[in-house]
Amino acid sequence: MYPRLEINIPKLKHNVSTLSDICKTHNLDMAMVTKVYCAIPEVVKEISQENVDYLADSRVENLKNLQHINLPKILLRIPMISEIKDVIEYVDISFNSELKTIYKLNEEAKSKGKIHKIVLMFDLGDLREGYFEENEFFKVVDEVLRLENIKLFGIGTNLTCYGAIMPSTENLGRLARLSKQIERDYNMPLEFVSGGNSSSIDLLQKWNMPDGITNLRLGEAIALGRETAYGNIIKGTYQDAFKLVCEIVELKEKPSLPIGEIGMDAFGNVPVYEDKGILKRAIVGIGKQDINIDGIMPVDKKIEILGASSDHMILNVTNSEKNYSVGDTIEFLVEYGGLLTACTSKYVFKELIYNENKEEVAYN
Ligand SMILES: *Cc1c(COP(=O)(O)O)cnc(C)c1O
Repeated sequence: MYPRLEINIPKLKHNVSTLSDICKTHNLDMAMVTKVYCAIPEVVKEISQENVDYLADSRVENLKNLQHINLPKILLRIPMISEIKDVIEYVDISFNSELKTIYKLNEEAKSKGKIHKIVLMFDLGDLREGYFEENEFFKVVDEVLRLENIKLFGIGTNLTCYGAIMPSTENLGRLARLSKQIERDYNMPLEFVSGGNSSSIDLLQKWNMPDGITNLRLGEAIALGRETAYGNIIKGTYQDAFKLVCEIVELKEKPSLPIGEIGMDAFGNVPVYEDKGILKRAIVGIGKQDINIDGIMPVDKKIEILGASSDHMILNVTNSEKNYSVGDTIEFLVEYGGLLTACTSKYVFKELIYNENKEEVAYN
């Protein structure tokens, strides 16, 4: 069935254990972030056996589907007050930045006879979630420690998401200092000081991660073998554990310039076209309803993506050495946005591949 996303389990397992080894070398534990592939339970089950310390996802719904896997589950997105029942039921540790929400978590945990662990987020400048002022942060710590059914499990930060701020010895050093201050003021160890996502790998591998950081939360680094501060490949990992395969439904020679007066395309944009003469054009059965076309790359490098509407993607196959025909398939490697959308689309069939053929497809 096409379009199809092939998920190579041995390659993913290899990436998990490689990243876990990198973390362990630097005395960090690793949360495996599953949101980019919608936490497909069969995939998570297979690959979470490779020295993973926590499962982490931004959506409660995904964590709910992983209950059969015996690892602590972290909710990465600040909980909505409307979902607190499920958070207490299905999540072991939630990331938080609002006292109003934490009070509600406490109430719900109390009514269920549970202790819920939280991680308080501090914003080091990326300007997404987290407390921004140290004074306020310490007041909140003080308040949280009074709550009977909440345990302060640790603190954390998120970088390189909204503001594209890079992790550094300075900004993460500040997080480590905040944790030491809490430990000193309250005479209690903080188990968990989470120093970011796949953008922290570069700092780590350069041995510049400050002391006191205990954890990283890795999604893209595991799924696609890339650190995200510079976009470099992580040595010893696969970039092609996920591969998208689409089927050709039409193949014709047509001009590169549309004929007639140009109005708006299917998405309300007024397009501009370049005259490249007559092209051999293939239409494959996938579209913008399924995929962010800027986040995929044909494995055959002579193929160019010309554009897409909701359900049709148009490719220029003029220069390809392969003589394609209707019914043939075309393969694509995926980047983060491509993978995220392909996984989320119910129209893209997911196929798990278990054989050990780890032959590599070059990413660049
Ligand atoms: C998505 C997310 C991650 C994982 O990010 P990657 O870049 O995929 O490693 C980590 N932490 C939080 C809070 C997230 O939302």
